[in-house]
Amino acid sequence: MKTVFEKSVKGRRGVQPSALDVERYDYESYRLREELVLPELSEPEVAAHYTALSKRTFGVDDGFYPLGSCTMKYNPKLHEEIAALPGFANAHPLARADKVQGCLAVIDTLSAYLAGITGMDGVTLQPCAGAHGEYTALLMVRAYHRSRGDEKRTKVLIPDSAHGTNPASAVMAGFEVVTLRSAPDGSVDLDDLKAKAGEDTAALMLTNPSTLGLFEKNVLEIAGIVHGAGALMYYDGANLNAIMGVVRPGDMGFDLVHLNLHKTFSAPHGGGGPGSGPVCCKAELTPFLPDPQIVRTEKGFRFGRGDWSVGRVSAFYGNFGVYVKALAYIVALGGKGLREAAETAVLNANYLREKISYFYPVGDRRCMHEFVLSMRRLRDETGVTAADVAKGLIDRGIHPPTMYFPLIVEDALMFEPTETASKEMLDAAADALKEIIALAYSDPDALRSAPHTTPVRRPDEAAAARNPVVKG
Ligand SMILES: *Cc1c(COP(=O)(O)O)cnc(C)c1O
Repeated sequence: MKTVFEKSVKGRRGVQPSALDVERYDYESYRLREELVLPELSEPEVAAHYTALSKRTFGVDDGFYPLGSCTMKYNPKLHEEIAALPGFANAHPLARADKVQGCLAVIDTLSAYLAGITGMDGVTLQPCAGAHGEYTALLMVRAYHRSRGDEKRTKVLIPDSAHGTNPASAVMAGFEVVTLRSAPDGSVDLDDLKAKAGEDTAALMLTNPSTLGLFEKNVLEIAGIVHGAGALMYYDGANLNAIMGVVRPGDMGFDLVHLNLHKTFSAPHGGGGPGSGPVCCKAELTPFLPDPQIVRTEKGFRFGRGDWSVGRVSAFYGNFGVYVKALAYIVALGGKGLREAAETAVLNANYLREKISYFYPVGDRRCMHEFVLSMRRLRDETGVTAADVAKGLIDRGIHPPTMYFPLIVEDALMFEPTETASKEMLDAAADALKEIIALAYSDPDALRSAPHTTPVRRPDEAAAARNPVVKG
């Protein structure tokens, strides 16, 4: 497909600006470059271009999207409308606090709800993604230890089942990563934790439920060991969808948590954002929250700065539109509704897991919001891999699950059917999987060459990752 730049025709216009009704302003001195090359197209051409592009991909609006560890839930379109209200969408990031009191109230109110949902005291909404939240929280961990004169804590403990962003964020924040072994059931190996937690440990980063979709049942004991060693407990709350309204990280012994508003709290994501990864923390860590904080006073909201703050972590105040959608979601559902969403997500995951349980499940426990299958036996018996199964699902109108993650499971396929999936969607997915497994034994080549129905068939994934051509 041609790019909009290749389709451009000099002089063609898609907009009709209204007549100039303000004084002409000389912007010459602000000019960043001499020439700005923009595509020139009519409105129908632009509409046709982006419609064609949208048909070449698969989104949550297309159907079942069980991408594990991503919480691809359907997002109410109403939230888009609310976020697009001119008072929100047109607010200027450099506006004075007294001109944007409504926006600051959104930040303050959402922060209060998130503190309540996580059982924490302080919140920053600034980080623009989950990984950015992890990084911010780890800067706070370091500032906390330093403020106590404790400079030796250079290591962060991370289970081997963790999301890849955890070790990456720890390294970015200047820590050394110490990997914790998982016990055979996917939980943290307590003996390994006891052996590794010590005077040089800054924090443990834990995902609960784990990336295997299992609740860490020893979490209080784990918190005891980590706190006993003088370190902090960090909760990777990207997957809060499984527990919101049911149990709070603050009650499980955690000191800090990041959330993914673009997963759990109904902002559409994928394709690069925009995201939001707020960090919530216990009272003793609030002095280290990023600047600026929104401070509530008798005369309204103002921006405040903390003496111990780790400083700014994003331009302005993060991705504001995502906050509006999250707030709309929380207010619309209420406490009971949030709990119901979490319970339905867990029910849906267990329903699908049970329906396909004879296909190689990992572990024999009830899962939380997601579950993992291992395609190793299928691969050994038929040569059909986890990737081939995923491609086969595309031909049946279903977005592939997450593949080859977590790394501790061979040929993993990780399914996360969210609460917005209907029973019919789940049944159809189970039927599609049954059909694919049968096909693997009768005609494995049909799967090795899948997908057959998409405009793009089997891209060279390694080449695409190494040398991305993002405009082709
Ligand atoms: C998605 C996810 C992250 C990272 O979030 P991004 O917004 O993609 O940076 C971290 N941890 C877990 C468990 C996740 O599922």
